[in-house]
Amino acid sequence: MAHFHRLSIPESHKNMQKLPELIDTHAHLDFPEFAGSIPAAIERAAQAGVSVIVTIGVDIKTSRNAAQIARSYDRIYASAGIHPHASFSMDAGDLRELEKIAADRRVVAIGEIGLDYFRDLQPRPIQRECMKQQIELAVKIAKPVVFHIRDAWEDFFRIVPEFAPSLPPSVMHCFSGDWSIARRCLDMGFYLSIPGVVTFPKAQFLQDVVRRAPLDRLLVETDSPYLAPVPYRGKTNEPAYLLHTAGKIAQCRKEPFEKVAAHTTQNARTVFEI
Ligand SMILES: [Zn+2]
Ligand SMILES: [Zn+2]
Repeated sequence: MAHFHRLSIPESHKNMQKLPELIDTHAHLDFPEFAGSIPAAIERAAQAGVSVIVTIGVDIKTSRNAAQIARSYDRIYASAGIHPHASFSMDAGDLRELEKIAADRRVVAIGEIGLDYFRDLQPRPIQRECMKQQIELAVKIAKPVVFHIRDAWEDFFRIVPEFAPSLPPSVMHCFSGDWSIARRCLDMGFYLSIPGVVTFPKAQFLQDVVRRAPLDRLLVETDSPYLAPVPYRGKTNEPAYLLHTAGKIAQCRKEPFEKVAAHTTQNARTVFEI
């Protein structure tokens, strides 16, 4: 059972009557850290202004679980996909299975899918093929993709642009590139989803990205239970902590928190049609 910490509200927010609405575009509510405590995590999130959470699948089983969670709670949506760490050579049957899960109206995206050459847990040709097959599925069912790309930008930009025009505007989850990479993703019509990493002192490349990117193309996410923002760094992350990430973006951009919250929330509604 995960141990959660008391929610700390940043000083700048303490006199707000009601915290502005935020959408956590990426969490893993079916992971063991949330076992038995999903309703409590959703409640804490709501108290911190996080009204909607998209819970993300990483393989067939977790995609099914994510869809089930989304059907069980009003303000939870899901995505279905095979993470690069779980990549395999999908046959027609596997793709049909994924398509069946993704057909649920509570499933709003295909993901997370992509390339991870940092951990390199699966052979790269298999990662590439598995990503392509799932992009084709997303095109077929007209749902956006949630991309997980780590240290694989060259192959990403070699493969994905030809699909971009036929894909609904898609999401670069846990965006980890610099501004030149961000620019190329934005040029494909994609959104940059910013994780708690932006609050880390060493993440100047990401703070630079959030300063320069148009506000109508930014999203915020926790990637719970991973990557807790400051002041929870190193602890189990949860959707309620999203306001620290959004707060940091507002600070970097020298814009009001309410404005960043309103835009990122509207962007999430647009991308996922919720
Ligand atoms: Zn990821
Ligand atoms: Zn994830």
